[in-house]
Amino acid sequence: MINRRQLQCVSCGTQVVTRTGIGHGTIQKHKFACPTCKVEIAFVLHLDQDTAGLKYDEPTNAAWVDGAVESPNTVLFYPELMIPRGLPHPLSPFVATSGNFKDIREYQSVEEARRQIKYKLWPIIERIYVHFENVNIQLMRKEAAELMGGKIPDLSDDENRAGWLMGATKHFFDFFVAYPQLGDGPGKASAKAVVEHEAAVRDFAAQYISSGRTAALWKEIKSVRRQFMELYESLLPLLMVRRYWREERQDITIYDLSIKNFEDLKGFYIDCV
Ligand SMILES: [Zn+2]
Repeated sequence: MINRRQLQCVSCGTQVVTRTGIGHGTIQKHKFACPTCKVEIAFVLHLDQDTAGLKYDEPTNAAWVDGAVESPNTVLFYPELMIPRGLPHPLSPFVATSGNFKDIREYQSVEEARRQIKYKLWPIIERIYVHFENVNIQLMRKEAAELMGGKIPDLSDDENRAGWLMGATKHFFDFFVAYPQLGDGPGKASAKAVVEHEAAVRDFAAQYISSGRTAALWKEIKSVRRQFMELYESLLPLLMVRRYWREERQDITIYDLSIKNFEDLKGFYIDCV
């Protein structure tokens, strides 16, 4: 779905038609340079996914106009998709890039699963984190059952609780990463270490816990995960390319990205590092 509006640059008076694809997030921020005077024009669109409502804020460096006379200047914004540079109007970027997928149906069904995880399951996982930290085992068990569709995991001791929580978190986050198998190597190495030198690994872990490093690391990783979920729609086009496009089509220099969202991603990248 594309929403069309027209605005006028406050500096030079040039009118521009904005054609904005409606994504699955709650907010879309778009920016472009005025085609005549190059001043940066920005607008924000608020979406209510439950009621399919949308509301624009007043643009920066421009004003919305009625658009009775359609301007020949057009900008196209399409969140969650890569837009081939110079895509002729009115070709849809979805149609233009659909041939790049290895299996577009798989992409669509897993993307639907990601949306369920983000909006339905992630809030449960965050509540479980709170109960885990406060050793509120009864509530942890209740929320865990909800997450697992009624199946209650073994949460009998601290090690089981932490292990289950890490495993469940990894299971859901693997839906969101370009190369889920990248974690296999370290996972296998640590499993092997436990099998072959359990006492040494336990001693190391105990030191890591008593020095406070485990708690600090847990806090950092939790913050990164929270930010990742929040910013998922900004990262989605790149996940789509790397995980779902055929390898010979992955040159992204010939595409534009509608929502770069540098401001929000900057802090996230720094925290990741
Ligand atoms: Zn202008």
